[in-house]
Amino acid sequence: MWFFRSPQIVFGPESLDYLVEIPARHALIITDANLVQLGLVNLVTRKLDEAGVAYTLFPEVRAEPTLELALRGAEVAREVKPDLIIGLGGGSAMDTAKTVRVLYERPDLPVDGISPLEPLNLSKDIRLITIPTTSGTGADVGWGVVLTDEVSHRKLVLGSPEGLADFAIVDPVFTLDLPPAITRDTGMDVLAHAIECFVGAWRNDFTDGLMIKATELVLTYLPRAYKNPHDEEAREHMHNAATIAGLGLGNAQIGICHSMAHALGGMFHAPHGRLIGICLPYTLEFAANGMPDNLAALARYLGLTTAPGQEGAYALVEAVRQLGRETGHPRSLKEIGIGEREFAESLPTLLDNASQDPCTITSPRVPESEEFNELFWCVYHGKPVTF
Ligand SMILES: [Zn+2]
Repeated sequence: MWFFRSPQIVFGPESLDYLVEIPARHALIITDANLVQLGLVNLVTRKLDEAGVAYTLFPEVRAEPTLELALRGAEVAREVKPDLIIGLGGGSAMDTAKTVRVLYERPDLPVDGISPLEPLNLSKDIRLITIPTTSGTGADVGWGVVLTDEVSHRKLVLGSPEGLADFAIVDPVFTLDLPPAITRDTGMDVLAHAIECFVGAWRNDFTDGLMIKATELVLTYLPRAYKNPHDEEAREHMHNAATIAGLGLGNAQIGICHSMAHALGGMFHAPHGRLIGICLPYTLEFAANGMPDNLAALARYLGLTTAPGQEGAYALVEAVRQLGRETGHPRSLKEIGIGEREFAESLPTLLDNASQDPCTITSPRVPESEEFNELFWCVYHGKPVTF
């Protein structure tokens, strides 16, 4: 038995207008200070003013949000008693909002209790809205949450399908001024979600078509959005692609490109999407060398080739590399300034963390430990994967 879960998705230019239609009394907006400064939070509060909905701002979200932050947000929620919780921002703001929404109503719950195995019985009178401001994480439509516990220094992977947003509002207006490097990195993340979900062990009939479309959209529109930030058509399609690929995250699963990027992100400070964009061609090459059929099928659907097997799979890898070249994406860890000695010293921990990452078991081809080691070195030096 399998499920396909999704919030109601309101998308396209001016979809933010839909906020006025949602009946509410008081909204709690969970966001970050940067978005307040850029004036993007105003776009939301103006709609709430128009609808006569009172609101409270909680602009305290930072990158790598913590459990403490979510607990504080839940406390604010219990003080102001919102019937609408809005997560506005990137993955961090939306993950925090999803957690606040649960802890607000269930202060009795130990945080580990936010799991798919635990019925939460949340009230239907409190609604959660996610509004992504980058075209990347797909966190607006997923129920999984990653928070850092600063006390135990652990990454907590939480979430319950009951904590899924009621509405995701996917309005490209928020992305028009994103700088090219962020556009590129987050776009590479979208591409990785789409391809990894399409070829992964948990792929299914309901996600496959969505992942093909998301891949096609990124290959077509990311170079345009990168080169011309105000290309509204490209921005709109990239914003949709991020959410479409995000539907793969909760309903299929990603693979080792993410395991490696998660491990690297814990060790070296680089944006998730940049690490993903570096690892992706190598991990796909590794899959193409042993389990090429699904990659070749994707290449065929995209019209890149009709060749089966490894040759077909390599056509897709080449399309990913070409996108990297077009957007000037770094090709190796060395290129982003990670020292060789530092990398070699970190490798045992990287290998441990990458092998234990939940994304590893859902990969199409799971590397043996020696292969994982080699793969990390290929990504470090930018060498082709021949095994
Ligand atoms: Zn990702």
